Amino acid sequence: MIDLRSDTVTRPSDAMRKVMADAEVGDDVWGDDPTVTRLEAMTAERLGKEAAVFVPSGTQSNLCALLAHCQRGDEYIAAQTAHCYRYEAGGAAVLGSIQPQPIQGEPDGTLSLAKVAAAIKPNDPHFAQAKLLSIENTTDGKALPMEYLAEAVQFATEHSLGLHLDGARAANAAVFHGLSLADVAAGFDTVSLCLSKGLGAPVGSVLSGSTELIGEARRWRKMLGGGLRQSGILAAAGIYALENNVDRLAEDHANAVRLGEVLAGAGAEVKAIQTNMVFAEFPNPPTDFEAKLAEHDVLMAINGNSSRMVLHMDVSPEQIERVGEVLAKIDG
Ligand SMILES: *Cc1c(COP(=O)(O)O)cnc(C)c1O
Repeated sequence: MIDLRSDTVTRPSDAMRKVMADAEVGDDVWGDDPTVTRLEAMTAERLGKEAAVFVPSGTQSNLCALLAHCQRGDEYIAAQTAHCYRYEAGGAAVLGSIQPQPIQGEPDGTLSLAKVAAAIKPNDPHFAQAKLLSIENTTDGKALPMEYLAEAVQFATEHSLGLHLDGARAANAAVFHGLSLADVAAGFDTVSLCLSKGLGAPVGSVLSGSTELIGEARRWRKMLGGGLRQSGILAAAGIYALENNVDRLAEDHANAVRLGEVLAGAGAEVKAIQTNMVFAEFPNPPTDFEAKLAEHDVLMAINGNSSRMVLHMDVSPEQIERVGEVLAKIDG
């Protein structure tokens, strides 16, 4: 199977499974799991933050961050399409009584800081008070410009807003810019990093930030049911991912460019590619396109005429060439 539906579909490699099997473990709710502690310290260090907490998912990581930054009746500002607003079942509103203020994003994936400024409400009893700006990087495969990130940091300081980075794919952004994770995370108060996407771990995200904010987040994690016991087995996969699977994301990015060429060769209109995602429109897709692709062992999510394809470590350059052959066959 050539599975292009997401980078969440990666399976742990034999080497990763070996370190999981061999992991030293303890009860992490008591702070006794040395492997979890090592993953948290390693992630904090790589992101240039004081502390970190290992959580089961990116959704829980974002929610712990929102809850740590905002009180009941506060507001957080995020893009209309932000994962933490649109794709997390309204958790911040339901479980935190935190009101979202969504903002229409710009074509380059940034949030216009002028639009954010205009959305911040005056200090008046009529209004919820904005406490947090949340930025996603990468977003739809776009790595935000480094100058923009610096401006956002300055903006948040000037407006006394906390600043959260939903960096589910921050490693893709770092590799795109040829910079470190710490560079991409610089100035953010909290950063959520997914281990279970392009980094290839089966489970887990890590939330990093100041000792104080991560202490708060750790309490929320417990309340949300995310306190785990011998989770060193999972953390070992995360350590392996950070040590072995960050630089190789460059291969996924190169494969994405090649897939774009293959799709264009098959008549599709392909949007600009920066990291591991390819967005394409098929002008005349055959009926049951998705099922026909699947018959040829190519899994692609087709939405009307368009598709988002995501490259990852379980897709090889040879398989991308096969996608081209399959597209030619289906068309013909
Ligand atoms: C996948 C994703 C998440 C959530 O991660 P899960 O582990 O699926 O809960 C959050 N933010 C972004 C940008 C993501 O892509």
